[in-house]
Amino acid sequence: SLHGKTALVTGSTSGIGLGIALELAKAGANLLLNGFGDSEAALNAVRAHGGSVAYHPADMSKPEEIEAMMQFAVEQFGAVDILVNNAGIQYVAPVEEFPVKRWDAIIAINLSSAFHTTRLVLPAMRTRNWGRIINIASAHGLAASPGKSAYVAAKHGLIGLTKSVALETATTGITCNAICPGWVLTPLVQKQIDDRTVDGDSARARHELLAEKQPSLDFVTPAQLGALALFLCSDAADQVRGAAWNMDGGWLAQ
Ligand code: NAD
Repeated sequence: SLHGKTALVTGSTSGIGLGIALELAKAGANLLLNGFGDSEAALNAVRAHGGSVAYHPADMSKPEEIEAMMQFAVEQFGAVDILVNNAGIQYVAPVEEFPVKRWDAIIAINLSSAFHTTRLVLPAMRTRNWGRIINIASAHGLAASPGKSAYVAAKHGLIGLTKSVALETATTGITCNAICPGWVLTPLVQKQIDDRTVDGDSARARHELLAEKQPSLDFVTPAQLGALALFLCSDAADQVRGAAWNMDGGWLAQ
């Protein structure tokens, strides 16, 4: 049980982050939510599971806003025991046409934000000698696809950060791991389905997107990823350190 523990999940107003926040709340954790869009709906969904819930609107591309959020977490809950670095964005273009601003934003949100939250949360985790840092990477943290240079670079980098932090905390009660999802049907992926939809046939676009990469031909769900995150928070996962754990319908088995 996670009663008495506090989890911060970045980018938890939607998709995978919200799914993970819900599973951690069901297990009894207090939750600090973050992200853009409808924060009220996310707060209500998480609050329905009973624990204490708060929200901070930090833009994860801005280090000073991340610092303010970490400060807020301590003021609200005393400490962050579980950090889930999940906020992320996607943009698809060939590398020679990739807009420089998009590259910078993807590196900032999908990679550097995890460096900032981690460096800010670790001292207090060390003091309590317990912590869980879970980085939501991607199948694209372990394999590439064309058109996704920034995303692939950021996610490979996030797995590198995961391994380094796991080694620096190896003799402590703090673990750091990455989860590598395959396709999950969230707004981030719906946009890619919309971009490939021809003649309004979105079912076909969806099938083709899956068929290209994911042998199961089915989406991973946010709740399944939440269950894996919950396992990584358990005592049974004490010796899972520096792993990049895929849940991808067979994507990386190919
Ligand atoms: P999503 O678009 O549904 O959710 C992204 C979340 O991040 C939202 O809450 C959004 O508000 C937040 N966010 C975006 N930019 C932000 C910023 N600058 N500051 C703070 N919050 C910000 O997407 P998702 O599919 O749930 O993606 C979540 C994570 O999972 C991302 O890191 C993504 O790369 C990763 N991922 C997704 C898939 C997939 O198939 N959907 C697969 C592998 C990995």
